[in-house]
Amino acid sequence: MFLQGKTALVTGSTSGIGLAIARTLASAGANVMLNGFGDAASIEATRAEIAGGGTKVGYDGADLTDAEAVERLVRRTADEIGPVDILVNNAGIQHVAPVDAFPVDKWNLVIALNLSAAFHTIRLTLPAMKEKGWGRIINTASAHSLVASPNKSAYVAAKHGIAGLTKTVALEVAQAGITANCISPGYVWTPLVENQIPDTMRTRGLTREQVMNDVLLAAQPTKRFVSVDQVAGLALFLCRDEAAAITGANLSMDGGWTAQ
Ligand code: NAD
Repeated sequence: MFLQGKTALVTGSTSGIGLAIARTLASAGANVMLNGFGDAASIEATRAEIAGGGTKVGYDGADLTDAEAVERLVRRTADEIGPVDILVNNAGIQHVAPVDAFPVDKWNLVIALNLSAAFHTIRLTLPAMKEKGWGRIINTASAHSLVASPNKSAYVAAKHGIAGLTKTVALEVAQAGITANCISPGYVWTPLVENQIPDTMRTRGLTREQVMNDVLLAAQPTKRFVSVDQVAGLALFLCRDEAAAITGANLSMDGGWTAQ
């Protein structure tokens, strides 16, 4: 229980990777603020189940594309659980379209959530981390923070952006006991991936199986999806003292994708 007494804010933790990270941090003793969208009853059931492990677990459904909502989320986390020690910027969305047909509102949404929200959570949580002389900032980036794919201009731009933001923050707080890193998964089997299958089937005229094997896993040499628990395991390691020298890193977990 090495995270006992620590407060973790995990954005986008009602589903997929974020939920696995929240569960894993709580199982190591952290108190956790969950965030994200979804069915109220099932979110409450998840919250209660994680809290059953003996740590404090809250939930706030802030829409992180709204900077004022992010401010309220960080304030509520400090008031109800504690000042944030571990910040996991994980909420993210995807939209797939050629750049010259990319809907402007979708561009703005992807950049606001996948990049600007992390700027806001970081700027709002850093002062308390500096005061304590300890902090962990973990950003779920993507293989798309290192390489591109067609039809994902906003996502690739935002993910490259968060990798740059992470490096900058790491340098600014290098002597303050705070680390900032990206985890960059390849394709992880989550609702985000599942939901882009119909769009890709339509834009490329493929079957579901073809999208899974020939598009999604085409670039992943292991030919296996990454699991949410593998990503959560790395996030947990980054919280350990043994990881104190890892900062400003962009850690790939992509089945060899970006080795090519
Ligand atoms: P997911 O769709 O399962 O989860 C996304 C989470 O973000 C959900 O909790 C959702 O409610 C929340 N969310 C969406 N819009 C929000 C908003 N406006 N405000 C607050 N919360 C919001 O997706 P996932 O696959 O678990 O993705 C999590 C992160 O991992 C994302 O940043 C994604 O880009 C990244 N990622 C995913 C994969 C993958 O293959 N699944 C690969 C690389 C990176």
